[in-house]
Amino acid sequence: MKVLVATEKPFAAAAVEGIRKEVENAGHELLLLEKYTEKAQLLEAVKDVEALIIRSDKVDAEVLDAAKKLQIVVRAGAGYDNIDLEAATAHHVVAENTPGQNSNAVAELVFGLLVYAVRNFYNGKAGTELMGKKLGILAFGNVGRNVARVGKGFGMEVYAYDAFCPAGVIEQAGVHAVKSGDELFRTCDVVSLHIPATPETRGSIGYDTVGQLKKGGILINTARKEVIDEPGLIKLMGERTDLKFITDIKPDADAEFAKFEGRYFSTPKKMGAQTAEANTNAGIAAARQINAFFKDGCTKFQVNK
Ligand code: NAD
Repeated sequence: MKVLVATEKPFAAAAVEGIRKEVENAGHELLLLEKYTEKAQLLEAVKDVEALIIRSDKVDAEVLDAAKKLQIVVRAGAGYDNIDLEAATAHHVVAENTPGQNSNAVAELVFGLLVYAVRNFYNGKAGTELMGKKLGILAFGNVGRNVARVGKGFGMEVYAYDAFCPAGVIEQAGVHAVKSGDELFRTCDVVSLHIPATPETRGSIGYDTVGQLKKGGILINTARKEVIDEPGLIKLMGERTDLKFITDIKPDADAEFAKFEGRYFSTPKKMGAQTAEANTNAGIAAARQINAFFKDGCTKFQVNK
């Protein structure tokens, strides 16, 4: 089988070597299209391949039309809104992502941001420590579990709520399970968001929710900006001058939040998954998933079921 890695923004060389090893050891052929600048180059490159590995590259109906032999496309990463899932299904192409491969990277960033926040953005004034503080994790998925692990390392008391993960699983990880998101906000000094953007979660983190935080509370978002009700949070931060909001996803109202000097920080660009290790892990996982698909028909990570 021919496996094409098509990346406008290429993987690191070490990741490509890892992918090559996986693909060739399974008896397949690896083709590379890196740093392409025109869609026409992608349309030409996909013509003859059975599998495709991409990063943020767009795979739409036109690409799928051109890829007559394509059976599987894997997005090396967690988000997959760059793949037209309906078109993939219509073309009988399995679309997959590689969940969990960047979770540790995101979790480490949470604590990088958190230390920065409690030390007053390194402004020279005494801050506070994390040890002994209550950390609330909203959603105990791949990232949330890693945040729990690191939080315990800091000596924090860790709490979590997940709408779908049983309390027993949370407790087994040495984390206090609470019964609702509201209880998490009422209980904790810091709440870290790890929910996906769904009809239930969109705009769910705003005035009333965050307003339940104790004095000096901190909200951290490394999930999705859609989950924040920005006008509600701006109103709350205007009223509650003790609250801090730290985010890895620049809000639409960044300029308004920036007025809360010393209480707001956004990374200039989403940084959560930006580590060499995460990129390598995701690329290699994509290659392994393709190998498993061709070997056993495994579609465990299919997102267009
Ligand atoms: P995951 O799918 O492993 O976990 C998501 C968890 O959310 C699941 O356990 C699920 O049960 C839970 N959940 C779903 N709806 C819920 C609700 N209404 N209330 C409570 N819990 C709910 O996802 P993940 O890999 O842990 O990623 C979590 C978030 O982080 C996603 O939004 C993802 O887009 C984001 N992310 C950001 C970066 C970054 O660069 N900042 C990188 C990776 C992932």
